[in-house]
Amino acid sequence: MKFTIIGGGLSGLGFFLTEENSQIYEMSAKIGGHAKSRKFKDYYFDEGAHINHSKNKLWLDFINKDNINTRKSEVRNFHKGIFFGYPIQSHLGHLKNIDKVRYINSFIISQVANAKVELKNYRDWCIAHYGIELSQDYYRVFTKKYWRTSMENLSVDWLKGRLIKSDFRDVLNGAFEIKSKDKSVFSYFKYPKKGGFENFFDKEYDYNRINLNHKVTSIDLNNRIIEFNNEHTESFDTIINSMPLPELVKITKNVPSEVAKAAEELLFTSLIQLNVVVNRDMCDITDTTWFYVYDETTDIARVSIIDNLTSINNKDTIAFQVEIFRRNDEDYNVNEISIKGIRDLCQILKINEDAILDYETMFIKYAYVISDMRRAINVKLIEDYYESNKVFGVGLYGRWNYVWSDVAFQSGVDMAKKLQ
Ligand SMILES: Cc1cc2nc3c(=O)[nH]c(=O)nc-3n(C[C@H](O)[C@H](O)[C@H](O)COP(=O)(O)OP(=O)(O)OC[C@H]3O[C@@H](n4cnc5c(N)ncnc54)[C@H](O)[C@@H]3O)c2cc1C
Repeated sequence: MKFTIIGGGLSGLGFFLTEENSQIYEMSAKIGGHAKSRKFKDYYFDEGAHINHSKNKLWLDFINKDNINTRKSEVRNFHKGIFFGYPIQSHLGHLKNIDKVRYINSFIISQVANAKVELKNYRDWCIAHYGIELSQDYYRVFTKKYWRTSMENLSVDWLKGRLIKSDFRDVLNGAFEIKSKDKSVFSYFKYPKKGGFENFFDKEYDYNRINLNHKVTSIDLNNRIIEFNNEHTESFDTIINSMPLPELVKITKNVPSEVAKAAEELLFTSLIQLNVVVNRDMCDITDTTWFYVYDETTDIARVSIIDNLTSINNKDTIAFQVEIFRRNDEDYNVNEISIKGIRDLCQILKINEDAILDYETMFIKYAYVISDMRRAINVKLIEDYYESNKVFGVGLYGRWNYVWSDVAFQSGVDMAKKLQ
């Protein structure tokens, strides 16, 4: 085969389905990568909250159409014991007048003062669009939780499709309790009726060209030999890589020192996810699909309500997917984080711990790529080296740039067309 694909996630599959002269080597026992789901207590939990809001026709043709729900996103924020609408700047109604005035005043100043200012980092961007007070009190706290770094250390190249600019009329309406519109980057989303996000990709594939349980452990670019954990070796012509760049660099023989150094500098978050099943009678959550938590006192960043993503409504139970992030260079204890996470969830939901019927902790080593100020320079250096050796990156971790699943899939398709 001309093309050796490392990884059977969505980007690897995009390449595979477009180019027949290719085969996949996937380390786990299933394809799907980060889009896989896990069954626990009659519920399916994804690796981090996963929903589909793509308009990409190629992607929509690819996903399994037999089993789709389209739902309105009911997104909330939580801060200091109160749930309120999304986004924050359009839902200031529950605050004291003195705070409303402070936020609105700084919002107006920012719109005037920053109209033509160069926005160098995420802090500049937030201040320019939401004002310094909201940025300090809400966005700074959430950035620390979600991205595990400061706003100044984040670039602005990851924002498209993730955050929205504000409309002054929405800010005023929200502050004075005239019904303000909930506004997200998308208002509706698709999710499988049953079976979790991975059900979108439950199709027939040519397994003659897919090698599961094959973890690549070494790559020799000079002799064009690739080795696997099961002692199997293969020669290769061209590699399509979707494994995380730091791992790729670690297993490549004789990597130049500047490439190794650039890979060491790449930052990412790991996800500690609590999959929690609660007694429905003891919990008062209605139509919320997911919510963000802004309090500094808890590590919890986002919570999704599984029952409200799917169309299965259990009468007796309700399931929560709780996300807590850590940066790759932090020291932490997953068990301690889980125990505190459960306590914090109980406080947020105003329930006693005995309302929790069961929970488990999932650890996902590679969650989000952190788009810090050095990311683009380091990735370019690594990519140039590998491309000159006929190793081409695809997907979220192969290109080391945050993308939604449809874009990951498309990047595999595009690479196959480019190399044909
Ligand atoms: C927390 C979180 C939430 C997200 N939410 C959404 C969402 O709501 N909607 C959305 O559209 N997208 C979402 N995404 C993005 C989506 O998950 C990704 O874009 C997509 O799954 C990436 O696919 P990929 O093929 O690039 O990478 P992966 O899925 O990581 O695929 C890479 C594959 O390589 C394999 N591999 C790794 N190392 C080796 C090795 N040494 N040998 C062999 N195989 C190896 C892995 O097992 C994996 O299967 C989210 C991502 C995260 C982290």
